[in-house]
Amino acid sequence: MTKNEIIEITGIRASDIYMNEPMNLHTSFRIGGNADCFCVVRSIDILKKTIGYCKANDIPYFIIGLGSNLLVSDNGIRGMVIKLSGDFDEISDISETSIRCGAGMSLAGVCVYARNNGLGGIEFAWGIPGSVGGAVYMNAGAYGGEIKDVVQSVRYLDEDGNICEKSGKDLDFSYRHSAFSDTADVILDVTIELFRKNKNDIFYLMNDTMEKRKKKQPLNRPSAGSVFKRPETGYAAALIEECGLKGRTIGGAQVSEKHSGFIVNNGGATAKDVRELIEEVQKVVKEKTGVQLQCEVRFIGD
Ligand SMILES: Cc1cc2nc3c(=O)[nH]c(=O)nc-3n(C[C@H](O)[C@H](O)[C@H](O)COP(=O)(O)OP(=O)(O)OC[C@H]3O[C@@H](n4cnc5c(N)ncnc54)[C@H](O)[C@@H]3O)c2cc1C
Repeated sequence: MTKNEIIEITGIRASDIYMNEPMNLHTSFRIGGNADCFCVVRSIDILKKTIGYCKANDIPYFIIGLGSNLLVSDNGIRGMVIKLSGDFDEISDISETSIRCGAGMSLAGVCVYARNNGLGGIEFAWGIPGSVGGAVYMNAGAYGGEIKDVVQSVRYLDEDGNICEKSGKDLDFSYRHSAFSDTADVILDVTIELFRKNKNDIFYLMNDTMEKRKKKQPLNRPSAGSVFKRPETGYAAALIEECGLKGRTIGGAQVSEKHSGFIVNNGGATAKDVRELIEEVQKVVKEKTGVQLQCEVRFIGD
């Protein structure tokens, strides 16, 4: 895989191809070794060609959103990391109350657009630092809302390169899971159904949500949000605290003093530090409470 070959076969422009790209520049944890190749893909046509090129040459590929739920290995990622931008950053009105959002857009951008247009229903997502694609893939949620509540339909590229569309109710959404979590489909855009709402009320609810986040979450440190899924009984953070693990540190990684469900990078943390800390937390919590904590954060790379 060379830059010239990629340009020639896929049509990706030279300035959108980064060979040996440090992944700590693309993850909210600020952790991760180099990807062999990192490409910004700006249209469906180029996306198809890029995936076709990877498949034909047995090059593994990975679609990244905004990297806010990933722990990338210190050894980096073999193959190609694909980031959607350009056409995938577009938003358009479909009806009075529904909007189509490109998968590469930030949820923040969607929330601001909805607020400016007097559309309520997605305020819960204000402060989730992911993309539309990542939010659907993960069924992101907060403060009583989940992306599944507002997804009308999703267009995606299936594993054979066909553009398909599914209604939200056929996407097998559950807690931090969607049909996409089990496939190599690429989410292209998402139609979201909202409702007319007074702009001031939307503004108030978004502010309130952000204030809650600021109060409870260590937003001044790199992290990937809550590391563990909520167990069936109670909250991961409460169990971790109960087990005396608040503030536990390995290398540059620490169980946050502010929110025990978060692991923060205090500077120079490696993926190895974070993994060891995760394993220690899982082990101690299991021993002391019997609960097996499951990871919400995705491990990527070598
Ligand atoms: C400070 C902080 C607070 C957070 N708070 C919350 C919260 O309240 N609620 C919550 O649910 N999460 C939260 N998160 C986690 C994270 O923001 C969400 O999981 C988010 O949905 C991930 O989106 P992303 O674009 O960053 O995806 P990434 O982390 O880049 O990727 C996650 C997965 O989605 C896949 N993916 C991304 N785009 C596509 C696409 N177009 N097609 C197919 N697959 C795709 C990737 O391949 C990967 O498997 C928080 C994270 C941080 C750092």
